Amino acid sequence: MSSSLRFKVVEEAFSRKAVPVEIPTERPQVYYGEKVFDRRKMFEYLPKKTYQALVDAIDNKKPLPRDVADSVAEGMKQWAIDNGARHYTHWFQPLTETTAEKHDGFIEHDGKGGVVEEFSGKLLVQQEPDASSFPNGGIRNTFEARGYSAWDISSPAFLLDNTLCIPTIFISYTGESLDYKTPLLRALTAVDHAGTRVARYFDPSVSHVISYLGWEQEYFLVDEALYSARPDLVLTGRTLMGHESAKNQQLEDHYFGAIPSRVEAFMLDLEIECHRLGIPVRTRHNEVAPNQFELAPIYEETNLANDHNMLLMSLISEVARRHNFRALLHEKPFAGVNGSGKHNNWSLGTDNGAMLFSPGKTLLENTRFIAFVSVVMAAVYRHNALLKASIMSATNAHRLGANEAPPAIISIFAGSQLSAVIDRIIKSDSADLLPIDGKHGVNLDIASIPEIMLDNTDRNRTSPFAFTGNRFEFRAVGSSSNCGSAMIALNTAVAEQLNRFADAVDARVEAGEELNHAILAVAREFLIESQAIHFDGNGYSDEWKAEARERGLDCETSAPRIFDAYLSQASIDMFASTGVMTKVELEARNEVKWEMYTKKIQIEARVLGDLAINHIIPVATRYQSALLDNVYKLQNVFSSERCQELAAPQLATIEALARHIKVIKAEVAKMVDARREANRITVEREKAIAYHDNVAPCMDTIRYHIDKLELMVDNEIWPLPKYRELLFIR
Ligand code: ADP
Ligand code: MG
Repeated sequence: MSSSLRFKVVEEAFSRKAVPVEIPTERPQVYYGEKVFDRRKMFEYLPKKTYQALVDAIDNKKPLPRDVADSVAEGMKQWAIDNGARHYTHWFQPLTETTAEKHDGFIEHDGKGGVVEEFSGKLLVQQEPDASSFPNGGIRNTFEARGYSAWDISSPAFLLDNTLCIPTIFISYTGESLDYKTPLLRALTAVDHAGTRVARYFDPSVSHVISYLGWEQEYFLVDEALYSARPDLVLTGRTLMGHESAKNQQLEDHYFGAIPSRVEAFMLDLEIECHRLGIPVRTRHNEVAPNQFELAPIYEETNLANDHNMLLMSLISEVARRHNFRALLHEKPFAGVNGSGKHNNWSLGTDNGAMLFSPGKTLLENTRFIAFVSVVMAAVYRHNALLKASIMSATNAHRLGANEAPPAIISIFAGSQLSAVIDRIIKSDSADLLPIDGKHGVNLDIASIPEIMLDNTDRNRTSPFAFTGNRFEFRAVGSSSNCGSAMIALNTAVAEQLNRFADAVDARVEAGEELNHAILAVAREFLIESQAIHFDGNGYSDEWKAEARERGLDCETSAPRIFDAYLSQASIDMFASTGVMTKVELEARNEVKWEMYTKKIQIEARVLGDLAINHIIPVATRYQSALLDNVYKLQNVFSSERCQELAAPQLATIEALARHIKVIKAEVAKMVDARREANRITVEREKAIAYHDNVAPCMDTIRYHIDKLELMVDNEIWPLPKYRELLFIR
C-alpha cells in the first residue's frame, strides 16, 4: 500500500461512528437461550417418553437407544425448522484449536421426484465427515481416512446462522480421539469417579463430582480498515513489526476506564447474541493494554463451559465485523503492551451442592477442604511440566515469561491465609491430628478456617495458578487456545491424585486408623511432598527462576521441547491409569503440536520476509534517495566546506539507513536458509526445534531493524499503519 492509502485508512478508522444495536424489546430472561434446544424445548417438541429417555441418558451418562434417537431427531428438526433453520451440522473441535462444521441440508428424496425435509436419528447421532484433512498426527493415513463424529448429548444443540449445530466428539475409525472434546469428557469422568470416592468420606450420599470452569476471555479490537492495511495481522493474527507508540499502557488509563462508544455497541451486541445462545456472559471491561478488553461468563460445568468458549470465539469475530472491527484473539498481537490470556477459573463440586474448594462452617467441611486442596497441590506439583505443555503454543509462547503474564514455570499461589493453614498442618506432628477432647484436629484450628478465609482478597497477578478463595485460577492459558487442553491435563492430574489419596486413606483405615485421622495424615503427606510447587512471591523475578530450578520445577522455555512433557513416563501412566488417553493418542497429538508450531513460525517468517523486502526496504531506500538528493542540491548552492557541515545530519541518516537495510537483507537471507534447512527435516519434533532455534531468532533481529527504520523514515511515506494508529480507538 502507498502511504496515502495509510492516511486514508487511518482517517476512515478514526471518523467511524458506533453502529446502532438492535436491542430486543424483551428482558434477557425472555430471550436467554432461545437458540438452544434446551430442556424446555425438548419438553415441548419431544414425545413424553422420548423426553424422559433423553433426560435420563443425559443425567446418568447413558447411551441413547436408537429408537429414542430417531424420535429426538424428529423433534429437534422440527424446532430448528420452526426457527428458520435449513441446514444442520455436526459441530466439533479438531486439534486446529478452532471449531469445524460441515453443513448439510435437511432435504431428502421423497421417492416421487420431489424432496422432503428429513433428519434421522442416524444422522443426529453419528456422522462420517470426510475429515482426512484435519490434523491427526498420523493416526489416520489417507487410505483409512474415516473419522466419526458422534453427538455429545451432555451439550445441547443450538442454532447459529440458520444452521442447527450438534456438538459432537470426533474420533478415528479405530477409536482414537482426534479432538479436544473426547479426552475432555474422559477426563471429567475420571475426576468424577475419583472425586466421588474422596467426597464420600465426608458425605456418603454423594454420587457425582462435577468440574466447573469459568473462563475470562481477553481480546483486542482493531478497526477493520487498519487491520486490512496490515498484511501481518491478516495472515498471522499479530503484528510482526511496529515501533512502540510513545504512549501505550504506561498511564494505565485504559484499565477499567470508560469503554469507547463503538466498543460498547459491539459488546452489547455480542452480549445479546451470547444470551440468545445460552452463554451466561456477565462481566465485561477494558483490560490493561489500549484496545484490549475482557469478557467473562458465570461459570458452568466444564464441558459446557468449554463449548461456550469455543462458540464465543466464533461469535466475537462475527459480531466484531458487524461493527467494523476485527477481533484479535492472538496471545500477543502487539509487542510492548500486554498480551491476552484466558484465565481458567476451575473448581470441583458435588451433585448435592458442596463446593470442594470452599472452606465451610464445620470441622467436617474444612477437613474436606484441606483434603481437596492437598490433592490439587500434589497434582500440580507432579505434573507441572505437563500443565505447562497443556497451555503452550507458538502463539502463547510470546506471552509466557514476559513480565506481564504468568512465567514459564508453573507454581501455586495460595495466599497468606491458606498458606498459614498449610504451614500449620505441615509443621504439626501426628499427635496434633489425633482426636482431642472428643473433637478432631482441634490443635490445628481447622474448625475456624472459614472465618480467616472469608475476606480472602489476596491477589497475586504474577502466579500462573492461584487459589482465589473458593477456586483455583489457571492463568497461563492462552487467549486463542481451546480451554479443553488445559482442562484435560488438570482434571486428569487431579483425578490421578484423588485416586492415590483414596487408596492411601483406605489402606490406613483398613489397618485400623480412625478415618478423620487418616484423611488429615494423608493430606499432610501430600502437602509435604508438594511444597516445592507452593510459591507466593513474585513470579516475574529472576530470583524465582533460579529458585524454581533448585526446587526441581520444570523451567524449560522452548515450546517444542515443552511438548515433550506429554510423553514422559509420568504423563503416559497418568493418562493411561485414568483412561483418558493412550500412548498412541498422546504421540499422535504431539506430532500435531509440533507440526502446528512449525507451520505457524513458517508462515510468520514468510510474511515478515516479504514485508521486509517489498514493503520496508523500498520505502527506506526511497527516503535515502530523497536525502541524497538533498545533499546533491546543497552541493550546488553552498561551498564544499559549508556543505559538509550542513549535510552532516543527512549523511549520518543515509549511512544509518544503509546499515539497517544491509542487516535486514542479510538476516532475511539467513532466515530463508534456516527455513530451507529445517524443511528438510522429516521428524516433526526436530523440525519444530529447528524452527524455534534457528528461524524464530532471525525474526527478532529483522523486526528490531525495521522498527528502527520506522523511527527514521519520513512519516509521509511509511506504508503500514503504526502502533499509535492501530491501538487507539476513538
Ligand atoms: P475476577 O476477580 O478473577 O475477575 P470474577 O468474579 O469476575 O473474578 O470471576 C471470574 C470467573 O470465575 C467468572 O467466570 C466466575 O463465574 C468464575 N468463578 C467464580 N466462582 C467459581 C467457582 N467456584 N468455580 C469456577 N469458576 C468460578
Ligand atoms: Mg480472575
